Amino acid sequence: MPRQVRVDMMTEQLPSAANQVNVDPAFTDALGNFRPVIRYGVDNYTQAGLVFGRSFAQRVFRRHGIEDFTVFPPGDPGFFTHGSAGFVWSGVGHVARAHRMGTSAAHAVVDHRQKSWEHDNLYIVGCGSMPTLGTSNPTLTMSALNLRTAGFIDRGLDGI
Ligand SMILES: Cc1cc2nc3c(=O)[nH]c(=O)nc-3n(C[C@H](O)[C@H](O)[C@H](O)COP(=O)(O)OP(=O)(O)OC[C@H]3O[C@@H](n4cnc5c(N)ncnc54)[C@H](O)[C@@H]3O)c2cc1C
Repeated sequence: MPRQVRVDMMTEQLPSAANQVNVDPAFTDALGNFRPVIRYGVDNYTQAGLVFGRSFAQRVFRRHGIEDFTVFPPGDPGFFTHGSAGFVWSGVGHVARAHRMGTSAAHAVVDHRQKSWEHDNLYIVGCGSMPTLGTSNPTLTMSALNLRTAGFIDRGLDGI
């Protein structure tokens, strides 16, 4: 390990209406609950950012005499070509936007309190409220959002 280096490139993605989480009666689990139907892709702009990152890493490797063992297998689900070269993208588990936050019911599931626009007594909390993400890990931001939501729920209980 002391002789090995791993470099990953992380990019932000532009928001895209083509990336969606939906439900469909054709896809349910054994209890009849809806399973998420996910449509997700990485657009050309984002791919170009990854390709630039890869060329930067290659320059660093050359400068420092690092032997490059990187392979991008064409069978990988994230395989894409840019020019004549092949690359692979993969996710980092920072899922977002399933119940996105917004200023109106027309384009969002929850409001700034993470309260459902459709049901007054329903709060949906977590990273799913984030409309999009940068490259940073989301858990601290999510925790702050959720502590704030706990305050709204608590104050709401006062009136009951
Ligand atoms: C491999 C990996 C590494 C990561 N590393 C980091 C990191 O280093 N730092 C960081 O900040 N973030 C990291 N993340 C991201 C972070 O873990 C997630 O963003 C965060 O856990 C999301 O929290 P959440 O509460 O929104 O969703 P979740 O943690 O997914 O919680 C959702 C919960 O709802 C439950 N649930 C789902 N459906 C139902 C149902 N129908 N009924 C009842 N319960 C249900 C699930 O079982 C789950 O417990 C990582 C993620 C992955 C996958």
